[in-house]
Amino acid sequence: MINHDVIIVGGGIAGSRAALEIARTCPDLSIGLVAKTHPIRSHSVAAQGGMAATLQNVDANDTWEAHAFDTVKGSDYLADQDAVAILTQEAPGAVIDLEHMGVLFSRLEDGRIAQRAFGGHSHNRACYAADKTGHAILHELIVNLITCGVTVYDEWYVMRLILEEGDAKGVVMLHIEEGRLEVVGAKVVMLATGGYGRVFNTTSNDYASTGDGLAMAARAGVPLQDMEFVQFHPTGLYPVGVLISEAVRGEGAYLINSEGDRFMATYAPSRMELAPRDITSRAIGSEIRAGRGINSDGSAGGPFIYLDLRHMGRDNIMSRIPFCWEEAHRLLGIDAVNEPMPVRPTAHYSMGGIPTNTDGQVRSGPEGLVPGLFSAGETACVSVHGANRLGSNSLLECVVYGRRTGAEIARYVRDRKAPDLDPAPYLAQAQGTIQELLEKPGDRRIASVRQALQDCMTEHCGVFRTEALIQEGLTQLQALKQQARDIYLDDKGSCWNTELIEALELQNLLIVGEMILYSALQRQESRGAHFREDFPQRNDDRYLHHTLSFYSPAGVDISPRSVNLGLFEPKERKY
Ligand SMILES: Cc1cc2nc3c(=O)[nH]c(=O)nc-3n(C[C@H](O)[C@H](O)[C@H](O)COP(=O)(O)OP(=O)(O)OC[C@H]3O[C@@H](n4cnc5c(N)ncnc54)[C@H](O)[C@@H]3O)c2cc1C
Repeated sequence: MINHDVIIVGGGIAGSRAALEIARTCPDLSIGLVAKTHPIRSHSVAAQGGMAATLQNVDANDTWEAHAFDTVKGSDYLADQDAVAILTQEAPGAVIDLEHMGVLFSRLEDGRIAQRAFGGHSHNRACYAADKTGHAILHELIVNLITCGVTVYDEWYVMRLILEEGDAKGVVMLHIEEGRLEVVGAKVVMLATGGYGRVFNTTSNDYASTGDGLAMAARAGVPLQDMEFVQFHPTGLYPVGVLISEAVRGEGAYLINSEGDRFMATYAPSRMELAPRDITSRAIGSEIRAGRGINSDGSAGGPFIYLDLRHMGRDNIMSRIPFCWEEAHRLLGIDAVNEPMPVRPTAHYSMGGIPTNTDGQVRSGPEGLVPGLFSAGETACVSVHGANRLGSNSLLECVVYGRRTGAEIARYVRDRKAPDLDPAPYLAQAQGTIQELLEKPGDRRIASVRQALQDCMTEHCGVFRTEALIQEGLTQLQALKQQARDIYLDDKGSCWNTELIEALELQNLLIVGEMILYSALQRQESRGAHFREDFPQRNDDRYLHHTLSFYSPAGVDISPRSVNLGLFEPKERKY
């Protein structure tokens, strides 16, 4: 058995920032960080447009209160306002800290950090490194944490979270290269495994975003919070789904329909293309449904609309958003200087996740905490995004709450004893799971079951939802769980068996999909990204609360958790 004081699952910006904070505060602690990818291939590296902070470099009138208000309004009043206050107050310090670490932010003429506009933000406050912001941040974090002596287990797949009598004691992990299993015993476990975009058929997320941490927590009896709130980003490149950053609209691009109209004037006249993502995605969906989408031959009635950059000019495009130009050129052969890009909504971000307090400690229910278990980043739900996240607030959340969680772990771990843990039954159980998968006599391919799940979720729990649609989705999902038992693996080996990893991930995708559907079914209102056509209004009397969902193989139990207000009273949300 491997032993550490702290084991962190996930090497994205949240996990790395936490590891670095612990190592900087307590150099004597033994810290392990596991990632199923190499850490610098975590999805964080793909973050493009920016990280919000009221540095006041471009907009001298910006304040943390304005940032907090925008965030709470953007969340459709479901965010916990104590968590939002911390996020927005600590934001400027978090950016400066990254800068001191070596992150190369884009600059203004006078040398200060540049800031751009982003959807739903009332001031220009997104700090950025061209359109490769995540890359710039993650690389510095990883270099710094290796220098601080954190032990990195890259390309190890964590299969299970070990909780004994509700107390976190470690994880079971599989070395992807060698097929070797190890139990890691730790005084503290932190989950920072990112999002679950791969539950849907069109997503901006990488192949590794399969919600493993969520499924691990759910299987161990930990609740998940607000799983019905899935963000669909308005501008996924059609048909691939790859993200074209909101920074493109922040720099002035238009959305136009088949009639050449900037249709956002109908849906959010004061914010136009920079309305929050839930509103913009629904607007695009409505235009397409009304027959004002566009086909590949340019005719009306098709499945996408245009993102038009032509008026911005070559110099602006190439200096501010070169990566987005490159993506459209590489994938579709489009030169955005002269041609509009075809886009439509793509699954992008999970507002819900493992519920935590503002120190990253995981909640066991409406009141209690899980001893020894922490979480931060996209896999967690602290909740600063409520029902809809504003762009550029996620990198900020990863950095601010990654750091806070690391700081709390460094304090907390002092009073924890090393776990009394017998690895044998866990090794046997994991070995059994693998053996069973390898020996399956079934006849179904993993890819076909996964594709059916992704199609089912996209059709039944996408931008527009109804009770009948969600119910039908649940029925299909039950059938898919059965089909997943009949899969067959070609690769029986132990070295780099990526098919085995995909089989394990499929089990997680099914659990996450089920949690999303059950949570969406019970919320009979429309709030933020959760739009119920059968209940089109927000209903604060019945639903101004978080959804806690508890998984068991027999089904999902739902209970409410109150929202922390305090700064801003809920109002009608208009832009
Ligand atoms: C294309 C794109 C662009 C974006 N642009 C922006 C932006 O401009 N601004 C913004 O604020 N936000 C943006 N976001 C959102 C933001 O990037 C993410 O929410 C954030 O980076 C998530 O970081 P994380 O550390 O929580 O997880 P991730 O970066 O996803 O890292 C997850 C880690 O967990 C590991 N892991 C997962 N499962 C396992 C397992 N079973 N065993 C071992 N390891 C595991 C992975 O290997 C990885 O290291 C963007 C997202 C996308 C997809």
